[in-house]
Amino acid sequence: AITITGEEGRRQTENVARYSGVLVFGEYTDGKFSGAVQEILGEARKIADKLGVQVSAAVLGNRMTDPAGELIAGGADKVYLVDHPLLEKFNDDVYTDVITQIVNTYMPEIFIIASTIHGSSLAARVASRLGTGLTADCTGLEVDMERRLLRQTRPTFGGNLMATIICPGARPQMCTVKPRVMQKLPPDYSRAGEIIIPRVDIKESSRLRIIERIVSGGMDYNLEEAEIIVSVGRGLQNPNNLNMIREFANVLGASIGASRALVDMGWLEYSHQVGQTGKTVRPRIYFACGISGAIQHLAGMLSSEFIVAINKDPDAPIFKAANVGIVGDLTSIIPTLTTELKRL
Ligand code: FAD
Repeated sequence: AITITGEEGRRQTENVARYSGVLVFGEYTDGKFSGAVQEILGEARKIADKLGVQVSAAVLGNRMTDPAGELIAGGADKVYLVDHPLLEKFNDDVYTDVITQIVNTYMPEIFIIASTIHGSSLAARVASRLGTGLTADCTGLEVDMERRLLRQTRPTFGGNLMATIICPGARPQMCTVKPRVMQKLPPDYSRAGEIIIPRVDIKESSRLRIIERIVSGGMDYNLEEAEIIVSVGRGLQNPNNLNMIREFANVLGASIGASRALVDMGWLEYSHQVGQTGKTVRPRIYFACGISGAIQHLAGMLSSEFIVAINKDPDAPIFKAANVGIVGDLTSIIPTLTTELKRL
């Protein structure tokens, strides 16, 4: 870390001391929170308890039904609630404006956002607007008590190294956190909290108008929440074989994941990608079918409770991560498993 001395150093120290508390972005869409909100709240609670400060959460939307109750039960002490027709749908420009005003008014020393599609977009814009740093896609957060700094850890160099990043001179210390990495707290509905309606100026965006929102996918879209995932890789060989995977997933009630190789070939949408540059998942059972087990893929699924690997190469690295390994051609193994499961 670089220590800045002299007048600039004194100015920075004074500025940093004006900020206090941990803020969380409570992403709220279509009447509910994103699953990662409770996870980052749980993490924020741990950090705030160490620092001896409060946790606040900012929630934006239109005609929300008691969002504050859930946030307080999940660990927030204060909820900044902004309910307005222009906040009905996530709009990068309008949300950035409102969140920046909230940060400038309440001055949290730490601001945590889940790295969902909306969260990642918002975090980058807010950090740039505030002139502070941003560590994206963190997988670990710790507090350096001596220097009162957030140590933010994230994979780097293609997942081969873990980098720990600090932000000594600017505030807030901002990070996005991968969903399904942090632990949520058991909800405590007896907790008391304060609801604050911030005075913010809400203007329509002059650049960006949401005309229509098309939600892609059916049951196989919601990967992060899935209990069972059937993931496929390049070993699938032919996109027509996806029908066989869909049938298998259907019988299991599973969602469909994919390696980056498969997504890059355009056989499944990016929303299915598991791994360092895709989603982090933590299902009860993870089937890796025709996936070699590159480190970047493992980064997204190693926390699965039980891993079944199907691969025709007995030396494929995925077998080292698997609880059960089946060596063979997936185009014959998957239909056999489907038939057997249907009989149960
Ligand atoms: P391959 O590595 O080609 O493996 C195919 C496997 O299928 C082989 O093991 C083969 O033995 C097996 N196979 C072939 N035919 C059959 C058959 N008939 N039956 C059974 N098995 C068969 N990858 C990700 O997945 N997610 C990420 O988020 C990601 N992020 C990345 C980020 C960076 C910065 C970089 C550099 C790479 C990233 N990658 C990511 C890519 C990663 O390095 C691998 O290239 C990718 O995971 C390989 O995908 P795959 O296992 O499907 O393909």
